Amino acid sequence: MNSTNDTCCEASGSPAPSGPMRSFRFLIRGLHPRLLTVCPFGAILSRPMWVFRYLPVGCTHGYSRLAPSGHPAPRRSPLLSLAFCLILLPCGLFARGPLLKRHEYSLPRMGTIFRIELYSADEAAASKAAEAAFARAEELEQIMSNYREDSELMRLAREGASAPFPVSSDLYDVLSKSIRISELSRGAFDVTVGPLVELWRKARTMGRFPDASELAQAKALVDCRNLELDATRRTVFLKRAGMKLDLGAIGKGYAADQMLTLLQSRGFRQAMVVAGGEVAVGAPPPGETGWRVALETPDAGPGNPPCTLLLHDAAVSTSGDSKQFVEVNGKRYSHVIDPSTGLGLEGAASTTVIAKEAATTDALGTALSVMPVADGIRLAESLSGVAVYMVRQVGNGWKRYASRGFPAGCPGR
Ligand code: ADP
Ligand code: MG
Repeated sequence: MNSTNDTCCEASGSPAPSGPMRSFRFLIRGLHPRLLTVCPFGAILSRPMWVFRYLPVGCTHGYSRLAPSGHPAPRRSPLLSLAFCLILLPCGLFARGPLLKRHEYSLPRMGTIFRIELYSADEAAASKAAEAAFARAEELEQIMSNYREDSELMRLAREGASAPFPVSSDLYDVLSKSIRISELSRGAFDVTVGPLVELWRKARTMGRFPDASELAQAKALVDCRNLELDATRRTVFLKRAGMKLDLGAIGKGYAADQMLTLLQSRGFRQAMVVAGGEVAVGAPPPGETGWRVALETPDAGPGNPPCTLLLHDAAVSTSGDSKQFVEVNGKRYSHVIDPSTGLGLEGAASTTVIAKEAATTDALGTALSVMPVADGIRLAESLSGVAVYMVRQVGNGWKRYASRGFPAGCPGR
């Protein structure tokens, strides 16, 4: 997704198709979903963009400027075009196939609401798959929670400092991903941030700032270079006693990826999983080019409606302090902590990251919130398939920044 031409994302603000393209697309959308799946041309019909890209027909006229390849479609004879349309459409109209219906499920998990949306002709199979996906989320919560004393993560914190601690493949996987993001962000994201998170939770309930010695003690335990992973034995060793791990900034994204993978392995390709602010999407809904994801940014208001992205086979996360923050002495601190100072971030802000996986977008969203804007943009642009959009409060106004590759259409782009 390094460029806006990448077809897995676009913003709703991008120019809408016009003329014949719009009407043909409308016609396709208006067809019964059943017609879009079984006819020999079904695969093409269910992806209207493809129709315009590949058919040598006049229907491509309006679309040529917008073809995903970026190359204008060649002009063809109108007669040939009409003939092709006449062959293609009846085929769709008489096809018999399953009726794809939208199904939605939600359940509280990991301190937030998890939501699944998918398209299926078989309601019973869909709800079974959703149940299995939620069971997977529950399994992951039992591994990654730092609220449950008996979670694998908490056992690791208790026992992992005396000897290498054997872990499940999930915990190993999520910790390896975490270390990669820590390295990329030079410690702005750090899963060993646990002692500081605890201190800030206490500060929130007591309404007072942590004192300097408490802060220094906690800060000294935060450094993911003290986390030693052994891939052969699949063990984790905590090099310093008292270290505490916190997967709050990657666990939900990881769970969303795992749930989507499970749904897809059961044949539900047209699916979306939302885990709080983390979103993972598969193939687009029938007749659409992507899933619509509205960005929650702190600058949204009556004159500035939320910007909407269109995504498929991708993930997006927004990290921000709109819901979770601590107020001490009239100052507002985010639940995202800068490990280099030990303090919660100040000022209203949001950071939206698009990438292939939600574990990446979740963790990078936190990392890029902590990093200075220019460094964050540079990091995002150095990573293949990653794009970022940031909103920062400056005085009484807002500044918006986007990396190259963030879909056009959001304010500031
Ligand atoms: P949200 O929970 O709203 O999705 P984030 O993804 O940014 O927000 O995660 C914030 C959580 O991550 C915090 O509540 C805390 O548990 C943890 N955290 C805070 N600061 C950091 C950090 N610098 N690196 C890693 N995890 C962090
Ligand atoms: Mg996050």
